Amino acid sequence: MNIFSNRTASVLTKHGKELVLNEVLNSATGLQVNLTNAYDTDLLGTFTLDVSRHGSQFDAARKKAQIGMELLGTDLGLGNEGAFVADPYTGMLPWNIELVILIDQKHQLEISGFSGAPAQNAHAYVCHWEELEKFADTALFPSHHLVIKPTDEYHPKSVKNITDKQQLRDAFQWASSNSSKGVVYVENDLRAFANPTRMKNIRQATIDLASKMNSLCPACRMPGYWIEDIQRGLPCNACGMPTDQEIAKKWGCLKCEHSDVEGMKVLRFANPSQCKYCNP
Ligand SMILES: [Zn+2]
Ligand SMILES: [Zn+2]
Repeated sequence: MNIFSNRTASVLTKHGKELVLNEVLNSATGLQVNLTNAYDTDLLGTFTLDVSRHGSQFDAARKKAQIGMELLGTDLGLGNEGAFVADPYTGMLPWNIELVILIDQKHQLEISGFSGAPAQNAHAYVCHWEELEKFADTALFPSHHLVIKPTDEYHPKSVKNITDKQQLRDAFQWASSNSSKGVVYVENDLRAFANPTRMKNIRQATIDLASKMNSLCPACRMPGYWIEDIQRGLPCNACGMPTDQEIAKKWGCLKCEHSDVEGMKVLRFANPSQCKYCNP
């Protein structure tokens, strides 16, 4: 039993996210997810440059949660927003960060779950059908849908919802004949229902959210008690200089002042292979 069980959370989406959200959150926290699609979330920004996005990923997710609550008259709202960036390790691979936010008006609480994972986010310029077929294979088509535009990504017209070979061929012919240079732009559709890799990452972010919803502050018993900060600087075993290795985690409450440091119980040192001075 927690403060969420038997309550209804709204989610505003037309991209099929409600099934994943409900499946994860209902079993983990007992809340029920109710869908509304009475507002077109694409008006808040799309991935295909039709509508540019304003504000941060947080602002966008929060706005969706708030509109959903207003439309369904609930005091709990969920919102998801994805971002596509370069991976944080090498900077070479497409990376997807998903944020799922929960707003609880009744308890004046906002909890968010995150997940970062490799993304299926490829694009290409092609002139011939054979090139497009080859690209489609590497872009995991047809499990992942494609979007096609004449000339380049800035062209105002596009064909979306391409899910089979015949549609791909038709879209290619349409784009070829509408392209000033005979070039066709093709990319992965990044909307959740059209991109199973992304949907899987939304599920991970929702699992992260559920863990936080079930983590209660030891002092005031409110949910969302979680790691606020990680302190780094574990000294090197050879030279004693600080490294990037973790020393301790700081946990904090969203509602009260309670916090706690979870760190090493015994003095430890970092391996010199992790040291910038010993192993630059
Ligand atoms: Zn607290
Ligand atoms: Zn060292």
